[in-house]
Amino acid sequence: MPRLIVFDVDSTLLRVETLDFLIERALGQADGEAADALHAITAQGMAGEMDFRKSLEARLSITTLSEALIAEAAQAIAGEATPGIKGVLDRLRAREHEVYAVSGGFMELIQPALEALGFAPGEIRANRFVVEGGQVAGFDRNNPLSRSGGKGPVVGSLKAQTGCDLAIIVGDGITDYEAFAGGGADAFIGFGGVTRREAVAAKAPAYADDVKALEKLLLG
Ligand SMILES: [Mg+2]
Repeated sequence: MPRLIVFDVDSTLLRVETLDFLIERALGQADGEAADALHAITAQGMAGEMDFRKSLEARLSITTLSEALIAEAAQAIAGEATPGIKGVLDRLRAREHEVYAVSGGFMELIQPALEALGFAPGEIRANRFVVEGGQVAGFDRNNPLSRSGGKGPVVGSLKAQTGCDLAIIVGDGITDYEAFAGGGADAFIGFGGVTRREAVAAKAPAYADDVKALEKLLLG
């Protein structure tokens, strides 16, 4: 029976947090204090201690981000797939499961990496930057993925669209767990193969510490 399997992107399909990757490149080596602030915001968000939209706003306010830098970062991110994950995706697709990527990150940063992992543009849901005069001026606030609790409804609509009876979400973060706890997905597999987040591991009904364990849970 084909299932809908939804993967988180940052620290799941990819071994980086893509927005932080971009901001770190924008900051360069010079600004250690700003980089520390960035990491503190991300950690709080991932642990569920900061509202997701607030965390997006706070990170985007750290420095100016140009379209050119985004394009350059996206190319670099294309080389940051989680080792071994492409094989798992290919084997899921070979069994005719519906495989999607749903991200709180930004399409402009993740699309080249996800295309290399075999995702068609229509199999990706992510945030989008609002750009003015070549610089990031914010993000599309109407996108449900730009707020806390947004992943659940997106997974729910993918389940309706694909006609699958069972939707599984795989991810490292609390927003992934919440998509399951809120009823958008029927099952959740926590993934600690890039970063183990204890707040998630404690709640997850199933948890994979590496890609091998994840494959076993998904494919038996
Ligand atoms: Mg993640």
